[in-house]
Amino acid sequence: MWRPTNYGKEDIAAFKEAMAASSVEAVIIHAVYLINCASKDKELRRKSRDSLTHALRIGDAIGAAGVVLHPGSQKEEALAPSIKRAAKTIASSIEDSASCRLLLEQTAGHKGLLARDFDQIADLIDGAGGDKRLGLCLDSCHMFVQGYDVTDAAHLAAVLDEADAKVGIDRLGAVHVNDAAAPLGSCRDRHANIGKGEMGKRGLAAFLSEPRFEGLPATLETPGPDKKGSDKKEVTLAKKLRKEGLKRRTG
Ligand SMILES: [Zn+2]
Repeated sequence: MWRPTNYGKEDIAAFKEAMAASSVEAVIIHAVYLINCASKDKELRRKSRDSLTHALRIGDAIGAAGVVLHPGSQKEEALAPSIKRAAKTIASSIEDSASCRLLLEQTAGHKGLLARDFDQIADLIDGAGGDKRLGLCLDSCHMFVQGYDVTDAAHLAAVLDEADAKVGIDRLGAVHVNDAAAPLGSCRDRHANIGKGEMGKRGLAAFLSEPRFEGLPATLETPGPDKKGSDKKEVTLAKKLRKEGLKRRTG
């Protein structure tokens, strides 16, 4: 929904208290899915900007590790003007918020969605002024269905080399951990439960144990056993797979 949730001072304080008392080390905010920073429609762009700014300010208030954003989509137009509009919207939200990182999520590659590859992400970041707060979020499922075989450690390393060359690996601020319900290269954004999709347990173990992901906040966005979202069991499984992956890497 567009309507922002107005959190009061007490809400923020209660959240911080709960965080401090929990074993959760980082929190990531996902920007509203309705946002299209690239829209030709001025009103929609303004709404997108306001919603994004609001999310960043909440992030500032609660000390979030970042706001993850799908920057928008290109409709019946060339790429360059869409990137330009999206970058301008993003820059404006950065300017009106203090310190929370804004992480552009690499998308699954279906037609028109911006941030499908590292070239587009680099163009968006550069176009928005290259602020230090601008970064990248990588989603295992999105990468896989895009055609990057991130279930293979060597291939994943090569993909991250590309990310480093084009965007800068220090901009990588978070990962999304999902199995894929659609095949490699299908460009279909269908998340599956951990170990139950095309990537499988072994594939996700390789993804989760990548050294350059060390210390990053990781979020599961799977359907979950009852289609109500990821549960604790899946988190435990992901942690176990990471350990297995690390073991395999050291032989
Ligand atoms: Zn994601």
